[in-house]
Amino acid sequence: MAQSVKGMRDLFGTELRWFQHIEETARRVFGRHGYGEIRTPILEELDVFKRSVGESSDIVNKEMYEFTDKGGRQVVMRPENTAGVVRAAIQHKLLNSSDPVLFYYIGQQFRYERMQTGRYRQFWQIGAESFGVATPESEAESLLMLHSFLTELGLKNLTFSINSVGTPESRPAFHAAFRAFFAAREAQFCEDCHRRIETNPLRVLDCKNEKCQAALEGHPVITDHLDEASAKHHARLKVLLTELGIPFEENPRLVRGLDYYTRTAFEVLSSDLGAQSALLGGGRYDLLVKHLGGPDVPAFGWAIGLDRLAMVLQQVRGEAPHSTPALLIPLGDRATLEALKLARNLWDAGVALQLETRGGALKKAMASANRLGIRTVLILGDGELEGGTVTVKHMATGEQESWPLGEVASRLASR
Ligand code: AMP
Repeated sequence: MAQSVKGMRDLFGTELRWFQHIEETARRVFGRHGYGEIRTPILEELDVFKRSVGESSDIVNKEMYEFTDKGGRQVVMRPENTAGVVRAAIQHKLLNSSDPVLFYYIGQQFRYERMQTGRYRQFWQIGAESFGVATPESEAESLLMLHSFLTELGLKNLTFSINSVGTPESRPAFHAAFRAFFAAREAQFCEDCHRRIETNPLRVLDCKNEKCQAALEGHPVITDHLDEASAKHHARLKVLLTELGIPFEENPRLVRGLDYYTRTAFEVLSSDLGAQSALLGGGRYDLLVKHLGGPDVPAFGWAIGLDRLAMVLQQVRGEAPHSTPALLIPLGDRATLEALKLARNLWDAGVALQLETRGGALKKAMASANRLGIRTVLILGDGELEGGTVTVKHMATGEQESWPLGEVASRLASR
């Protein structure tokens, strides 16, 4: 029997209902904030990711589904969506005016990852990107939207963890202080960090190695070495988050390792799953659009993993909110045709209804209704046709009653 490809899974049932509920919530909340959806192709040219995600990253180095297509083009199944959104926005000249441009996306991403729980090779991300505004107010707006999104999904114990990584101009001052700190205790750091301190010192701060994290105790912090404008920006964001009642903490080890990231970096932590763990991350990337060949346009955005979010919600809230349709069971030849007509009227009136079309015994149909979790069964036989009624069985209580045909739509709608 054929199986799905390793790391790729089928979505259905309870888990898919969470996906749908999350997607509906995202569209509602983001739409309310004036964000419009963008859908970009799954395949992009290799160069798009080399230049954005970065040639030295694990994603580009080890995890990309890349191949040469029949026309000899080097293409990649996107490992993330920001690069594609930026590429599209530049290509279609959407960033050429001074107007803010607000996009969200919901889509599959592909990474050839080592298998572990909650990590897949095809997974989903929802993200929002705001282009054209460099203010801390635009960040507060985006974070408020994210806060509403997560809160409306029912997550309560949220903390926004924030930092500023300054700008390429202000970073050398921090690098100098940090290199001096590192040099004084370099034996305590791992080999990777010895490489990072030369090529990308910020990345030492988020090294996963516990010994390195311990060695970092008392390290110089970036926010003490910011240029004046970045420092003002960071202070203003903290004022806004405080005023808006968004719970946040400063995390001086929260960094983004690429040069086009500027100023605000953030993560959202949730303690809904026991130990606090990051649900998502994002930040300001004022230099990416230009870096990818577009105009000099600032940007801020974030992405959340849908698979992980659905898993968290399933554990915290159980079943996703959904309604099951009623089931209409006709008994006998005449009732079969009448049932089709009745069902059509109910469907046209917006009623959710499943129709038993197999024919055969009532017992078999009722057994299916039980297995399908149907709560209301309508039975239409010769007796009911004579009287212009349907027999209604409420599965939870076993209670049975008779409804006039003309009232079925309204009575089902009011349930
Ligand atoms: P990243 O793009 O690595 O910063 O990840 C952003 C979000 O995508 C995180 O919230 C992760 O939960 C999710 N994510 C990243 N890689 C995977 C994966 N292989 N499977 C499932 N979710 C993922």
